[in-house]
Amino acid sequence: MEISDDRILKELSIDGVSGSLISLADLIRKQKVGDFVYFRGLVEISNICSKNCYYCGLRKDNTKLRRYALSEDEAVAIGVSIYKSGISSLALQSGEVKSDRWVEKLVNIVKRIKEETKKIDEENGKQPEGAGITISFGELEKEHYEELFKAGAHRYLLRIETSDRELYEKKLHPVDKDHSFDTRLRCLEWLKEIGYQVGTGVMIGVPGQTIKHLLNDLKFFKSFDVDMVGMGPYIEHRDTPLFVWYRKEIEKKGFYRKAYELSVKMIAFARVILEDVNIVASTALQSIPGCENSLETGIIAGANVVMPVFTPSDFKKAYSIYENKNNLTVSQIAERIEKAGYTPVFDRWGDPVHYFERIKGQTAPV
Ligand code: SAM
Ligand code: SF4
Repeated sequence: MEISDDRILKELSIDGVSGSLISLADLIRKQKVGDFVYFRGLVEISNICSKNCYYCGLRKDNTKLRRYALSEDEAVAIGVSIYKSGISSLALQSGEVKSDRWVEKLVNIVKRIKEETKKIDEENGKQPEGAGITISFGELEKEHYEELFKAGAHRYLLRIETSDRELYEKKLHPVDKDHSFDTRLRCLEWLKEIGYQVGTGVMIGVPGQTIKHLLNDLKFFKSFDVDMVGMGPYIEHRDTPLFVWYRKEIEKKGFYRKAYELSVKMIAFARVILEDVNIVASTALQSIPGCENSLETGIIAGANVVMPVFTPSDFKKAYSIYENKNNLTVSQIAERIEKAGYTPVFDRWGDPVHYFERIKGQTAPV
């Protein structure tokens, strides 16, 4: 539904979260996408990254990080075992590497997971659909995205991080050709052209960001006509420039409370404005320091997707985007969703309703 800029700015500027906003978001959620919460088993394939985003612990120049990349066999085995455990959708994520060789490995992983999970369906006498596969490998070439789509991935998450060019190019990323706002936008366009269900999102509460930026982020989601939204609070990582530069601000009492409240409000506004999209209750939301029940709050505000982490324990710590990630287990998450009055769903892909509305009348993707 339409909602005025003034109402959004007013809500974003106050302390706390209005009950009326959450009630409205919950009403729209139940009308448009029901009370379901879909699971994506998340596998963090590699923490090797060629980029230098100022906020992220995986940045290339963080030499303190032990780097890893799962082998093709390891990644496929984890994906298949998640599917066998009953979770029918996966999310594969990694640092960004734009080489043909790396993408060939990713394509093989996607293809093999798809084939093997289809076989499992056949053995169980079911329609062989295999796993639903979301991927998030950053900015790649258009051909790379096409190959991954043909291999069987059908959803792509690429956060715009902020829709404000200046904040993106001057404060959150180095000024060079590898960190261009235009490239990020072009990648999102390509993903849509190819036929992916496209997800984007922003970090919330990051130093330098204003509520006007957040309002414009919501407008960007609407005008880009996204299918999925993945947003979460910014959380510090000590071995990053952003933390070093803004340490005083970040360590001030109330910094995380603010980021948490803004994240909940942004989820609620996204649900109200975008209505039938999928919205993730991010791991960052669940990890924000000092905020209990943040998972439930995100769900009640309108999130309908959760992504429990299945990265092997040896590597979980090394996928250190930010500090003190809170990795809840599937049963902990499911229990908390049920207690909050919503329905956890494992055995359906849970594609965004919005995507099917968006492509009505279009010719089939390649
Ligand atoms: N490399 C890919 C990319 O950047 O799109 C995918 C993986 S990247 C680690 C996934 C997301 O982590 C990014 O889009 C960013 O929003 C988020 N992220 C990175 N550093 C963060 C931080 N310090 N706090 C919260 N989220 C962060
Ligand atoms: Fe690399 Fe993604 Fe982290 Fe940027 S946000 S440094 S691209 S992993």
